[in-house]
Amino acid sequence: MNNIITNDLNSYSSLDTQELLDIKNKINTLISNYKLIINNYDNLLNTINKNIYDKCNHNWIIDHYSINEHTEYTCSYCNLNK
Ligand SMILES: [Zn+2]
Repeated sequence: MNNIITNDLNSYSSLDTQELLDIKNKINTLISNYKLIINNYDNLLNTINKNIYDKCNHNWIIDHYSINEHTEYTCSYCNLNK
């Protein structure tokens, strides 16, 4: 298999310890990279939401689906809460 990451779970049983460790390291690196990408997109979304919040001519309606004790409002245009 030569350290190639595959979704075929059966193929891993034939590998030796070093091959498995190498693949494990590769997967951990991939996971770290994906987490960084997700974090960047989360930051982007936060910035975009702040801009939308400032620019939208909100139409606040009571959010009946909220599980909080106090009344929550959701804008019918941008779907943000106040
Ligand atoms: Zn709005």
